Amino acid sequence: MSGWIGSEADTDSSSTVSELSLKPGIINDQGTQTGRKITVYTRPLARLIEQLQRLPGVGPKTAQRLALHILKRSEEEVKALAQALIEAKRQVGLCQVCFHLSAEPVCEICRNTNRDNSTICVVADSRDVIALEKTREYRGKYHVLGGVISPMEGIGPDQLHIESLVRRVSQNKTGEVILAISPSVEGETTTLYIGQLLKPFTKVTRIAFGLPMGGDLEYADEVTLARALEGRRELD
Ligand SMILES: [Zn+2]
Repeated sequence: MSGWIGSEADTDSSSTVSELSLKPGIINDQGTQTGRKITVYTRPLARLIEQLQRLPGVGPKTAQRLALHILKRSEEEVKALAQALIEAKRQVGLCQVCFHLSAEPVCEICRNTNRDNSTICVVADSRDVIALEKTREYRGKYHVLGGVISPMEGIGPDQLHIESLVRRVSQNKTGEVILAISPSVEGETTTLYIGQLLKPFTKVTRIAFGLPMGGDLEYADEVTLARALEGRRELD
């Protein structure tokens, strides 16, 4: 066991399990990791590594590499990084119309008059908007739910931007709503639930997936995603 922990199979795609197992070693700076003393970082450095390690996909080894890299940069560069973090957090909110990330009250996609206003693509997360935009296939608008219905995690329809979607669809001339939600169990529940709500008002389609069940929209390559969009079908 100590073999694989010591070797730190810490690529950015390393499994969550190995990351979780490794985490306490770094965070607990007077502690031990599987009996080994690991008080190797001076306190401020340990704190930086700990913060970096909280980022998704960053294991202990990557966190250490990033931290040591940051220390090598000039103070000016480090300030610029810190400032970018704080300003992004302060200035980026959600679009009032579609709930995509936006520094303006209404996002660029919603404001774009060249885009088809009568088609709304419904996604779980802003990451999915970014993934779909990269395909350059879609010219309609979006609606970001902010998650999927998950009774296990206590997320019901009220916690998601569903009511605003129904209002948006019913009050505007919407020709088609495309449901583009990752095909997990929760995603399916969400797709069917929203489909039922919207069918009285408009045509509802769902994208076809060239992806395995449980596959994540944001990890699909652009071609797969573009095909999936083309192959959408009407919800039964
Ligand atoms: Zn918007």
